[in-house]
Amino acid sequence: MSIVSLISKIPKVEIHIHLEAVASIKTLLKLNRKYGVLKNIENENEFSNYIFVETLSEMIGNFFDLQKLFRNLEDYAFLAEDVLEYMIENRVDYLEGFISPSMVKNLGFVAVQDFYAIWDQNVREIESLYNKKIRLIVDLSRSFGPENAMDNLNTVKSYIRSNPETAIIGLGLGGLEIGNPARDYYEVFKKAKDTGFHLVAHAGEEVGPESIVEALDLCSAERIGHGTSAIYDEDVMKMLRDRDIPLEICVTSNVFTKKYVSEFSNHPIGKFIEYGIPVTVNTDDPVLFGTNLNREYTDISTYCGLDDETIIKLLKNNVDYSFMPDDQKREFWQTKASPLIANQ
Ligand SMILES: [Zn+2]
Repeated sequence: MSIVSLISKIPKVEIHIHLEAVASIKTLLKLNRKYGVLKNIENENEFSNYIFVETLSEMIGNFFDLQKLFRNLEDYAFLAEDVLEYMIENRVDYLEGFISPSMVKNLGFVAVQDFYAIWDQNVREIESLYNKKIRLIVDLSRSFGPENAMDNLNTVKSYIRSNPETAIIGLGLGGLEIGNPARDYYEVFKKAKDTGFHLVAHAGEEVGPESIVEALDLCSAERIGHGTSAIYDEDVMKMLRDRDIPLEICVTSNVFTKKYVSEFSNHPIGKFIEYGIPVTVNTDDPVLFGTNLNREYTDISTYCGLDDETIIKLLKNNVDYSFMPDDQKREFWQTKASPLIANQ
C-alpha cells in the first residue's frame, strides 16, 4: 500500500481543529441565504474568493463571520452533520475540537450555557450512532480580552458542575496573538489549572518565540498550537523537546496566513522533527483553508521531504499527544492502526 493510500485508510486522531470551521460550504451558503451575513456571496466561487486571506487577522475576521451564521439548534445540527461527514471522509475516529464561546456571547442568539448543551447533545448523538469519539476544548479568545476570558471560564465551570457528563475536557487560548500576550491570561489559566482542565494555547503563530515561552510558563499549556516561530530560537526548541511539549502543526493554515511560511516546502516541520520536538498534524480550519486531514498528511509527505516512516510516526504522535487516557491510546494504535501498517 502506498503511503497516500495508508493515510486515507488508517484510523486517525485530530487535536487542533475549530469546529465551526468544519462546516461545509453547502451549509454556509444555505445559512447565508437565511441570514445574509456575507454580502454578495451566493456560490462556491464567491465563497472561495471571500475566504482568501493574507493575514491571521483577516482569517479571524472570517471565522467570526462564520459564527454569525449559527443561531439556533437547527443551524448547529447542520454543523454537527458536517463534522460527522468530515470525520468519516478523513477516517478521523477521535477528535479534540475547539468550540468558541466569546462571539456567541457577544451575538446573543444563543446563551453560552445552551451553546455548550447543544454541542454536548450533538457529540452524544454522533458517538451513539457511529464508532467515533469527540472531546471539546473551549477556546478563550485573546481578541476579546482577559475579562471576557475569565467570565467564560466561570460560565464553563458552572456548566460542568450541572453537566458532569459533558464532552468538554479543556481550555485553549486562541484569537489575535499580536498585542495580546499570554501573560494577560495568567490568572484565567491558573484558575483553570486548579479546576483540572487540560490546557492548550495557540502561540508562535504570528508572534516570535517569546510568545511560546509565555504560553508554557504562564498559561501552563500542555500543547502549543502552531509554534512556528520556535524555529528562530534554539532555547525554545530545546524547551519544547526537553519538556515533551507537542506542537499542533497546521501547515496549510500557516501557508495561508503567511507570517513565517510561504509554502509547504519551507515550513520548519522537518527541522522540528529532526530536533526531537513532538509534532502532530492538524487542519485548524478546514473550510477556511480548503483542506482536510488526509490532504495535510499527503501534502506533508509530498512536499516537506519526510519519508514514510516519519509520516507513520506523525500519525502515531496525534494519538499519543491527545488527551485520551493511556489505555485508550494504546488500544487505538494497536487495534485500529497497527494492523494496516503491518499490511503496508
Ligand atoms: Zn487554531
